[in-house]
Amino acid sequence: MTIDDLKAVAAKEIGAEIYALITELFPICRSITGDGFRQTMTLLQQHIPLKIHEVPSGTNVFDWVVPKEWNIKDAYVKNAQGEKVIDFQKSNLHVLNYSLPVNKVVSLQELKEHLFTLPDHPDWIPYKTSYYKENWGFCLSHNTLMALEEGDYEVFVDATLEAGSLTYGELYLKGEVADEVLISCHGCHPSLANDNLSGIGLATILAKTLQTVPHRLSYRFVFIPGTIGAITWLSINEANVDKIKHGLVITGVGDAGKITYKKSRRADTDIDRAVAHVLKHCGQTYDIIDFYPYGYDERQYCSPGFNLPVGCFMRTPYGQYPEYHTSADNLTFIQPESLNDSFSKLLATLNILENNHTYLNLSPKCEPQLGKRGLYSSIGANELALLWVLNLSDGSNNLLDIAESSDIEFTAIQSAAQLLSMHKLLEHSHIPAKILAKEGLN
Ligand code: ZN
Repeated sequence: MTIDDLKAVAAKEIGAEIYALITELFPICRSITGDGFRQTMTLLQQHIPLKIHEVPSGTNVFDWVVPKEWNIKDAYVKNAQGEKVIDFQKSNLHVLNYSLPVNKVVSLQELKEHLFTLPDHPDWIPYKTSYYKENWGFCLSHNTLMALEEGDYEVFVDATLEAGSLTYGELYLKGEVADEVLISCHGCHPSLANDNLSGIGLATILAKTLQTVPHRLSYRFVFIPGTIGAITWLSINEANVDKIKHGLVITGVGDAGKITYKKSRRADTDIDRAVAHVLKHCGQTYDIIDFYPYGYDERQYCSPGFNLPVGCFMRTPYGQYPEYHTSADNLTFIQPESLNDSFSKLLATLNILENNHTYLNLSPKCEPQLGKRGLYSSIGANELALLWVLNLSDGSNNLLDIAESSDIEFTAIQSAAQLLSMHKLLEHSHIPAKILAKEGLN
């Protein structure tokens, strides 16, 4: 990956492409298992050569068990006049996700025990799940609930909950080295745009983009159901996770809020530093927050038995916007501009990881004379960046170290290193900086 690659990608309408994919995925009723998730993965295969995996129900995965598979065809509640007062066909949020099948007549009083609403936002339908506790239920707007009259109601959920499998998608993009970047996103929510079709859409187009750009690192994209999917994936892939050198959980990247980055549990890994650097120099407000053991699948990747360098990249954090987990998290809540902004910041982060090499100054005794090489005031050369790279390239600093020390944006440091290498003033140090520092070789 080069600065030219970054510029070429920046010129494309990536935000619009991600938005179009999200629009296509939006109507599907997904859950942690079942055909909705499967259909979503199949649709992604039109963009990237995703491999679809199936893990049978009942499989033990650490302290958990892969649940029975849930599928739904239809659901409704009819009043005494036979009118559908709640209809799954109008919004898949209307059914409690993982609801047991039901087909009976109940009183309004009994029905109410199985209804979920949001009194503070009476027009919105909440998104509720009951994965691990068997129950049936419906979600509806509070206004609809208030309008229900006394009487009998026919409740019907045409769903199945039986032995099947948990589905996930995985794509491995081989780079020059085996070191991997893990990109993970959850895909188990039904018609919700920001949480987390935005993450799925962005990760898919990012994978598609990386297929067209030469990359040093290898990339592993996983599209999994939240929590149980990450636990299942880690259980199956435990022997290979030491290849993961950097990782990001991507979620909620389409809203208009500022970027929030939640650090990995280790807090000071390259991915933490790379994201922080991009945000510091982006000219916009942002938040960087410490790791805490709640949130998305970083909880599993950063559990103490793994402690992987995986942070969480999002815009407004879950629960901090009222639309979260409601019907208002729809296609009007996300914007192509925000998706584009999230994408470009992620690509800038990957560019740092790709190019964070350590160099050696080949003319370390006093400053080399840049003027006679045409390096002062040469086009594109940031003189201060040249001096910083020369001074700190003693084998103990990589380019991100230099960017941080100089407070100069990484791509300027990267360009300076490229220019100095062309002029034979710098060469790649093949000994990692940390080893040099440890052995006192620098
Ligand atoms: Zn969610």
